[in-house]
Amino acid sequence: MLAREYTIGRLFVSRIPYDQDIAEYVRTFSEDNGISVGLFSEIGAVKKAVLGYYKQEAKEYSTLTIDEALEIVSCTGNISIRDGKPFLHAHIALSDDAGHTYAGHLMDGVQVFACEFTLQEIIGAPLTRESDAQTGLWLWKTF
Ligand code: ZN
Repeated sequence: MLAREYTIGRLFVSRIPYDQDIAEYVRTFSEDNGISVGLFSEIGAVKKAVLGYYKQEAKEYSTLTIDEALEIVSCTGNISIRDGKPFLHAHIALSDDAGHTYAGHLMDGVQVFACEFTLQEIIGAPLTRESDAQTGLWLWKTF
């Protein structure tokens, strides 16, 4: 089987408070609300960003820290289980005051100025991540 079928659960619509770390907040929010599988999206603005870029040969992330106010053009991701807890995997695109864009893997340390998010719970079999030797990433367990 190449995919699993899930059903739609609860839909959460909320804000991430000022100064909060996006990834940390969404992990905690998911855990507090019993969400183990979900779809995440947000728009808003950040005070500081930390973006990741996965270096495939080295099998490690390099990070880019941007210590300035930026718009969140788009940020989408998913929730699944890693190490027994809800884990957010998201990518984010940001823009500066000249419209230049930065984008990458959402790392810990992205600090919110204002942020509106939706989190769609999906219901079904557990979706867990495991270490994948070929890529070095934590990927969804093979179905
Ligand atoms: Zn990623």
